[in-house]
Amino acid sequence: MADANEQFGAALRRMDRHDLNRLTIHAYTRVQRRMIDEERVRRRRAVEEEVAEEAAGAISFTTAALLDLINTMAILRMNRGRDGNSTTNQIEGNFSGNNSGENQFSEPAAPVTPNAQPPVKKKKPCKKNKKAIKKSYLFPEYHHLVAEEVEDIVFKSSTADGTRYDETNLVGSLRCSSCGNRWTTGIVATAIRGYEQQNGQLGYSAEVFNQRCAKCDSLGHLTLDVDTYVERVARRLLIWKGEFSPKRQIDRKFTPPQHRTDLCEGCAVDRCPKGRPARSAFDSHFGLYN
Ligand SMILES: [Zn+2]
Ligand SMILES: [Zn+2]
Repeated sequence: MADANEQFGAALRRMDRHDLNRLTIHAYTRVQRRMIDEERVRRRRAVEEEVAEEAAGAISFTTAALLDLINTMAILRMNRGRDGNSTTNQIEGNFSGNNSGENQFSEPAAPVTPNAQPPVKKKKPCKKNKKAIKKSYLFPEYHHLVAEEVEDIVFKSSTADGTRYDETNLVGSLRCSSCGNRWTTGIVATAIRGYEQQNGQLGYSAEVFNQRCAKCDSLGHLTLDVDTYVERVARRLLIWKGEFSPKRQIDRKFTPPQHRTDLCEGCAVDRCPKGRPARSAFDSHFGLYN
């Protein structure tokens, strides 16, 4: 009898949840009825737990582990994507790129002008994606990608203060405009601004700050990782629109990479989350806020 009940129990556990709920309870012995009840309760709890877990953001794409992975993947991708063997700058946890390949990222290539003063005028997007070396950039060319993630937004070519403001860090690889030194970082300071529009749309801009070479202090050519740009800008806009609520991340052991504030153009104008001690290093690094 014990054996039969064991088999019965095993069959219950294998049974589809809906079939289990449809069983005609009075057709079974008392022991079996109890087993059916217990199995039903167990399944219900499992479902509730799953829902609770989801609500807690366990599978949300903002989880710390996933963000960590995204950053790491982006950095690896960037290093793989660029040809080069001259990776000598070791700030901010970069990896050395050692194989050549097609550069899959649109680089704001520009004539190399050592120690040139960056132009004061705001850059204009132009064909071929060429950008002069500047202290900060806007990327209207990626607006269509952000707009795939967030409805009713419009890109504004502005770095003036709006009605909303926040900062994040992006992933980028840089090449010194003067000495050719290369480095990759997950701490590209970025200021995201929101501008309320008359028509109910949300205007926004994302100002991405350049960095300086640790060897010669010249500004770098910035190649931005587009995926992290789109993901983080979209997330901020969704939060502002009330369509996304970030969950506080669980504390976890994390050693943030070093950030050279003296080389960061975001820090230079107090727009870099890494430049402020108020936020935790973890939040700053991953661009998480609460
Ligand atoms: Zn340099
Ligand atoms: Zn900075």
